Amino acid sequence: MDRTILHCDCNSFFASVECQLRPELSGVPMAVCGDPERRHGVILAKNDLAKQCGVVTAETIWQAKRKCPGLVLTGTHFSEYSRYSRQINEIYRRYTDLVEPFSIDESWLDVTGSRALFGDGKTIADELRTVIRRETGLTVSVGVSFNKIFAKLGSDYKKPDATTVINRENYRKIVFPLPTDAMMFCGKRMAQSLAAVGIHTIGELAAANREFLEKRFGKAGAMLHSYANGLDDDPVRDYRDIREVKSVGNSVTFRRDLSGEEDIRRGMRAISENVAARLRKKHMKCWVVQIGVKDPNLKTITRQKTLDIPTHLASELAAAATELLRSCWNFSAPIRMLSISGTGLVPEDASAEQLCLFSPGDGSARERQEHLESALDGIREKYGSDSVTTGALLNEDLGLSELHSKD
Ligand SMILES: [Mg+2]
Repeated sequence: MDRTILHCDCNSFFASVECQLRPELSGVPMAVCGDPERRHGVILAKNDLAKQCGVVTAETIWQAKRKCPGLVLTGTHFSEYSRYSRQINEIYRRYTDLVEPFSIDESWLDVTGSRALFGDGKTIADELRTVIRRETGLTVSVGVSFNKIFAKLGSDYKKPDATTVINRENYRKIVFPLPTDAMMFCGKRMAQSLAAVGIHTIGELAAANREFLEKRFGKAGAMLHSYANGLDDDPVRDYRDIREVKSVGNSVTFRRDLSGEEDIRRGMRAISENVAARLRKKHMKCWVVQIGVKDPNLKTITRQKTLDIPTHLASELAAAATELLRSCWNFSAPIRMLSISGTGLVPEDASAEQLCLFSPGDGSARERQEHLESALDGIREKYGSDSVTTGALLNEDLGLSELHSKD
């Protein structure tokens, strides 16, 4: 018997929450950005009125303002986003225990066992949209299908506030014409590699020779072939089995106090490398960087900032952390403990497209850096973490080789 799986995706989540918090924003074109004061800050989300003016996610504030001079900007409020996210997931749980959050505004639901009580997938999806709108003021798009991959495609297919059913009868018609990278787990780079062998659509991928794909792309090739053919059988996990990762962080109490710019930079770099590698391992990026610093009198100061775009790169974490430290700390004062953590986590592929859109000038440099750091992860994984150092990790005297994790 086929499963009935829903993928629910909140529409313009950050912007919609901001409009709920400040209803006066609903009537004007508005956008959420990291730091409204910075012209080069980036648009993270926008409401429909801003969209109608041509404002797109990931463009800079000045580009958006040029298209839409009346655009009202607001900063981010992550604790409010989490609160709404929890409330919405609680609504999902009225229909099934099998609710698996994928990101702050997306969840899969397996409602196979709920059909007798609540009706078929489409009925449940439509009811969920009504209830969520009534209780939270937000709208969601829902994909209904027999596996998670197609359900996710369905929630992307039509929005806002829509239900798309992808079943055994219609999946070839709906899914096959879509470009390969519309499918989860097929990133831009993979799509380019597939295009190089003449595979542009999911239908072409489904029809391709599986042995060829496996030979050419390894396990990923075979996996994507299965997904394209509707053979994904990954279960929706029970929410109680999922430990929500809220942040990835590291703190080090140094063997001797750090003092001076050079010491501090080395410390920052080493901790950032560790945090970045763990973010990548979890396939996450963080929007927010937080630092904690303890002086020899054990006084602790914490600071945080929201990045323009989410990252899992050590270089960017270290830069943000150093900037934060500079805002609150005299670099000549000794430091006993330093912590860096990334919060506001998002799945790495949720923002990949935004990153490509963002600033074509330095996009390629950034992509190279992502490449490089991922390659380092591979080597560390294979040969142990001591095999790669960028210099910073050599600092035995600081005790940097004993980084502690605190998820
Ligand atoms: Mg969304």
